[in-house]
Amino acid sequence: MIYKRLLKYDEKAIRIIHPVSAKQLTDRTNDYPLLVPRDFGFKHSKDVFKPIEFEWKGKMFEIQYNTCSDPLCKNHGLKQEKFGIKSKPSRFKLTDAGGEKAILCNPDRVEPDSPPTCGTKTVTFSNWSITEEIERLIRINSVVPVDKEYEFHRPHCVNETHTPQKNPKSFYKRGTNAAKAEQFQCKECKKYTNVSPNKSRNTTYNQKRNEILPLFAKQLVNRSSINRTCEILGIGKGTYYQKLEWLYRCCLEFLETRETKPLANKHFPEMWITTDKLHYVLNNVLKKGKGKNRGILIEDKQLLTYIVASADKRSRYVFRSDINFDWEKSLDEIASDTHQLKEDHLHSFSRKNERFGIYAVAPCPPTKNDTQSMGEYHRGLNQFEQRRHYVDGLHVNNGYNSLAHFWLLRNMLSVDRWRFISDDDKSTKPAIARVFSEEIRSGHAHHFLCLTDKTLTRKQARAEFIKSARELKEWAKVNGLKYDSLSDIALWQLQDTLKVHKFHQKLVAPNGEIYYRQANNRLKHPIATSDRGHRLLDVLTDTHHLTNIQLAILMEQVNDNAINTFFQIVRRRLLILERPLVTARGDGKSYIYSNFNPKYAQMAITILRTYYNFCKPFKMNGEKKTPAERLGIADRVYTWEDIIYKR
Ligand SMILES: [Zn+2]
Ligand SMILES: [Zn+2]
Repeated sequence: MIYKRLLKYDEKAIRIIHPVSAKQLTDRTNDYPLLVPRDFGFKHSKDVFKPIEFEWKGKMFEIQYNTCSDPLCKNHGLKQEKFGIKSKPSRFKLTDAGGEKAILCNPDRVEPDSPPTCGTKTVTFSNWSITEEIERLIRINSVVPVDKEYEFHRPHCVNETHTPQKNPKSFYKRGTNAAKAEQFQCKECKKYTNVSPNKSRNTTYNQKRNEILPLFAKQLVNRSSINRTCEILGIGKGTYYQKLEWLYRCCLEFLETRETKPLANKHFPEMWITTDKLHYVLNNVLKKGKGKNRGILIEDKQLLTYIVASADKRSRYVFRSDINFDWEKSLDEIASDTHQLKEDHLHSFSRKNERFGIYAVAPCPPTKNDTQSMGEYHRGLNQFEQRRHYVDGLHVNNGYNSLAHFWLLRNMLSVDRWRFISDDDKSTKPAIARVFSEEIRSGHAHHFLCLTDKTLTRKQARAEFIKSARELKEWAKVNGLKYDSLSDIALWQLQDTLKVHKFHQKLVAPNGEIYYRQANNRLKHPIATSDRGHRLLDVLTDTHHLTNIQLAILMEQVNDNAINTFFQIVRRRLLILERPLVTARGDGKSYIYSNFNPKYAQMAITILRTYYNFCKPFKMNGEKKTPAERLGIADRVYTWEDIIYKR
């Protein structure tokens, strides 16, 4: 009777308390034609520090990420505060930075002799838009039961309120029919009713030829092109996408019971999260019949499609993989939001749709006191309308996508000590600093950078690895050290190096208090990785409560192998997400398999993630286990059949 379906676009996964009241909306409508845009925006400048509230799974949450994002600053992650002394400024000040709205970390005037603030500017976010992005990521990863309504009785039957579930004695069981539906007959009115089976009993319900689903799954994760898969399975292109969506639904259902539930009851004393982004080339496909006058789409260069993913360093379990593309947001909806909320005259941090970057607002005709000319308006409108000729949906600004990614990660795991590893990415660093500010401030979270030279060939990397191993062994010999493994020596050497190498600059405030600043002084890990060569390490968070030995133990462990391995498999196995191929003539890159709707890219990577976590054992430390087994949420290797038939 139950099978699950994806959430529809308008079935919101969380309940956001609407940040604009009816009265405020009336005020906006009245002010809009009268005020100069600048003044209109200024009137709502308090929005910048206003938390957005929402309800999810019966709990209330708040989002407010406009704060200092420097983990070494004393204002990091703190709320805006007005100090009750005259002419003393608040903690943060709203200002401009390169045409964007920013908040400035004000100097400390309450205790001027204490360690100074970082004094830097941080570009603002719209808390509302972050919340909307969280909603999107929850929604596209959710399934809900389908409740079919059955009529078990003829009109005026005395038992008309009885159902086989509640009143089994009022019905005869008549077995199952050809479609494997169960038949019930009312003992009173004699009506027959076919009840569709549970998904666990049968997946052919509502779907023709579902026996091909396991084979389809195997094709999908084994470098088979769409054409090839269709040929092998004898299905059409339309059916291909239907199967993909069906399989995606199976995976989400599987993850609900095998991932979400066990993780909710699990606690980790320490967790190393490695995060990276997969660049995915979305050929902005022109819609049919839009070949002429296509114009130039400005987003081609500005907005790239990325998939941000995070994996556990130890088990290699991949927790999330999120694409920065909203395939359901339409330009019409943007236009209607802009019109209703007057978003075009608001500052970016007040806007509901700010995460869509250049498509955050629809251009509106200039008002009477507008500073925009009619010409500017038409140019803007042209650009906006141009987007309609291309694939439906909109890119989400990376910063918003990353914030939502980490917010959800923080809420799916219970961890005492968080350790993050990423590269020097512009949206990952501030996202971790903001979402985990409490844990960072209390010393329960540390963020390490692991930088590799991505231009290195495998051969060069291998050579660096061999050289580094030889040098380490020599160093051990010179120092008369006996060792079991290379990492033993690496640890000792790091311990030695850290006596002199400092990641942070030590400073003393006028009142004698010590504080630190980021020194951007990176350290080469003693062991190069065999496939990517040397890695440079850095620490973004304050580690001064740790001893040298403790820090060396942490630093020795910093590598991005877990996420890197997953992305290699994604590229190798999912044809649609593979690296661009250089054409034979060498004059450019060919993306023949990349013309793929981002919606299906998200589905495919989630399917692969499920398979990778639960069905693909790998050898490490003499054990052959899956990431899920290593993480402790599975006790066996699962198969496609388990996922599809929910066994
Ligand atoms: Zn600061
Ligand atoms: Zn009846």
